[in-house]
Amino acid sequence: MKRYNYLIVGAGIFGAVFAERMTAAGKRCLVIDRRDHIAGNAYTYEQDGIVVHKYGPHIFHTNDEEVWAYVNRFARFNRFTLGTVANYRGEIYSLPFNMYTFNRMWDVTTPEEAEAMITAQREAVCINEPKNLEEQAISLVGTDVYEKLIRGYTEKQWGRSCRDLPAFIIKRLPVRYTYDNNYFNALYQGIPIGGYTKMIANMLAGAEVRLGIDYLANKAELDDLAEKVVYTGPIDAYFSYRLGALEYRSLRFETETLDKPNYQGNAVVNYTDRETPWTRIIEHKWFEFGAGDPNKTVITREYPQTWTPGDEPYYPMNDEKNGSLYAKYQALADKEKNVIFGGRLGEYKYYDMDQVIRAALDAVKSSTA
Ligand code: UDP
Repeated sequence: MKRYNYLIVGAGIFGAVFAERMTAAGKRCLVIDRRDHIAGNAYTYEQDGIVVHKYGPHIFHTNDEEVWAYVNRFARFNRFTLGTVANYRGEIYSLPFNMYTFNRMWDVTTPEEAEAMITAQREAVCINEPKNLEEQAISLVGTDVYEKLIRGYTEKQWGRSCRDLPAFIIKRLPVRYTYDNNYFNALYQGIPIGGYTKMIANMLAGAEVRLGIDYLANKAELDDLAEKVVYTGPIDAYFSYRLGALEYRSLRFETETLDKPNYQGNAVVNYTDRETPWTRIIEHKWFEFGAGDPNKTVITREYPQTWTPGDEPYYPMNDEKNGSLYAKYQALADKEKNVIFGGRLGEYKYYDMDQVIRAALDAVKSSTA
């Protein structure tokens, strides 16, 4: 009989949900994390009363009723709705792509005029089946929007030409022929009041948590503590990169506190030209409607980075080449009978937070079935 039923590697969203459900079912869970804090990349902390999203903006949104009911047990959500501003060389556009965007771009005022514009631009380049992100983007919104709002941002974000990127990435963003700036097509959206760290701490309340522990460096000894392992780190690292390294995209954040009440007037401003080195600036106070010191504001510039082993991986590169390497790692993972691989890194998937929760709830169901 081992001391724990589950050793959960990673105190991010997947690990916290798994721990919460299993603890509620009477299992003993030990959650460990390499970092000195819980909540993974959703981690938030307070600065001058402002909740700061340390690893980039996290806006909770979902269409999944069960997931929404679940998170609401651990936090109260505000009514924040993301409407992003795009700054292209000083010209301001609304995102996602909607009638405000098209009006600013072409002076059109009706959906018919906007559609006619996009259709003409799409037909001028003759794309039948979009094969890459560039073709997909032009098919959806035409060349002008592609050139001003997509190309530069995407090439900075992913470090590759839009012709060498999978089409699905741009389909994350809605295209609407209505005057609606909501970034997401989700029924439910908001930010946990007081931040994600509190929400995750509430989920982890019944489990034992140890921070600053490197699982892979102490694997044998840690594995000995529990009957099963839930691993939410990078799947290729788990197997010591033995089939080669998967590619990720990394980020660098530059955060500063300014002695002014309002820096940019919105939580997220994207810089969609190719030359500005950052992709976006986050002004954290607007996630909670200006809470905190009224004379201060905290902003973060986000710089995409090439990932090399040892850097923090933020985004999987879900293209064909990495997809087939991942499939080989997945085959190895299937042979690890006592290990569950989960989350953005464990499953190498560009998951949103609600999808991670859904995957964790499903993993719990299949483990207890
Ligand atoms: N994107 C873009 N212009 C923008 C914002 C996003 O072209 O101003 C593209 C870009 O390729 C990005 C993708 O849309 O990687 C998905 O954007 P999202 O905001 O969902 O990215 P995340 O917040 O996950 O980084």
